[in-house]
Amino acid sequence: MSTVCAVSTPLAEGGLAVIRISGEGALDCAGRIFRPFGGKTVAEMPGYTCCYGRVVDPADGRVLDDAMLTVFRAPHSYTGEDTAEISCHGGIYITKSILRLCLANGCEQADRGEFTKRAFLNGKLSLTQAEAVADMISARGDLLLRSARLTREGRLFSRIDGVKRQLVTLLGELAAWVDYPEEDLPAVEDGALRETLSSAAGELEALLRDYDCGMVLRTGIDTVIAGKPNVGKSTLMNTLLGYERSIVTDEAGTTRDVIEETARLGELELRLSDTAGIRGSDDRIEQIGVSLAKKRLDQCALIIAVFDTSSPLDAEDRELLDYIRQLGKRLIIVLNKSDLGARVSREEFADLNARILELSAKNGEGLAELTAAVSELFGADTYDADMTVFANERQKRCAEAALETLREALTAAQSGETLDAVTVLTDHAVSKLMELTGESISEAVVGEVFSKFCVGK
Ligand code: GDP
Repeated sequence: MSTVCAVSTPLAEGGLAVIRISGEGALDCAGRIFRPFGGKTVAEMPGYTCCYGRVVDPADGRVLDDAMLTVFRAPHSYTGEDTAEISCHGGIYITKSILRLCLANGCEQADRGEFTKRAFLNGKLSLTQAEAVADMISARGDLLLRSARLTREGRLFSRIDGVKRQLVTLLGELAAWVDYPEEDLPAVEDGALRETLSSAAGELEALLRDYDCGMVLRTGIDTVIAGKPNVGKSTLMNTLLGYERSIVTDEAGTTRDVIEETARLGELELRLSDTAGIRGSDDRIEQIGVSLAKKRLDQCALIIAVFDTSSPLDAEDRELLDYIRQLGKRLIIVLNKSDLGARVSREEFADLNARILELSAKNGEGLAELTAAVSELFGADTYDADMTVFANERQKRCAEAALETLREALTAAQSGETLDAVTVLTDHAVSKLMELTGESISEAVVGEVFSKFCVGK
């Protein structure tokens, strides 16, 4: 394999930048362009050591930067190959110049995800572990980071591998029974066969359930803040976001556009849109706003319906309630402006399946209850801190396909079909699981997986 190099830190000004070189010629290249202080040579440096020195262009002796060089010797590196990492000053020009120097001294530019791909191809990581690297880097909350780290440490691989081993053992017994019926082999007992298949299916079902929790953590909750004008939607949104975003005025009907922002509430992220009210209007612009607001309400996963508790509900409030009642979505009723005294009773909302809470968007009172309500509605409190989450759709699709064939195999076993049919289906499930872990996967799929990484990873 060729020797490749890339800038592994973002190409922006910063304190430090790291240029990574990996492959058979990595230490030769580093030796040509890096002069350690103190008379040592790069070739003499043992693995896992670093040294301070200068980056020098061997063509003309020009010094580019003072830097640190870290040496990793195969197979004890991330990629499993000889690797050199140059930590230089984090200027864009310096970094690019050193990268160009590497390219002129025996390296090729690394593709997206090339270092992690090499780690996978050299057996340093399973495919699920490699994919978790991307998840760790993009994690924005504790739970997601923890789950990605566990996957990176091999948790997902070993759970899938456990299922696969059960099925492979079963396949061995089935094959012996089908191929050598005349031998005195113990019959594959019906009950045991079904038990193995359903326990494997159960494990995959559990993993797929965790995936849904993981998606909520990863992509956030599509949330609409609804309410008639002037109840305090923009104020609530701003308070959640922690800064002034939408225009807050005393005049009814100011918030006409759908505004989208992301707010973090505990472990969860809300993708918020603060919409116009849904009252009927003759004004064409307002009508557009209303139909947009209704569309958002139809599509979202969570509605936070805001009412001004300092004055009784009116026809417009009831119109909104009627509209959201029939949507049957996860719903939080916010009785806002609680600082002005509550004149709206919770009884008004008794027929709705909703969390109801008093709040003052203006002074932040009641926000903790709102956070708790969201967390409870999406079961975030029950998320297992050690949950194993598929990193992406590819893994999920493999698990779903394996689960589907296992269910078919179970039906075949229960309806007394031949063991041949059960064998073929189980075999297919195993091949899907091996595709998931990357033990049996086409080059095209490997290419596809790593093309989603960024350069330098
Ligand atoms: P929107 O039209 O629903 O987006 O309402 P705004 O957020 O623009 O708020 C309308 C008015 O109510 C503004 O004068 C806010 O300062 C005021 N307001 C919003 N929330 C509260 C609150 O919790 N308490 C009090 N006293 N006033 C509030």
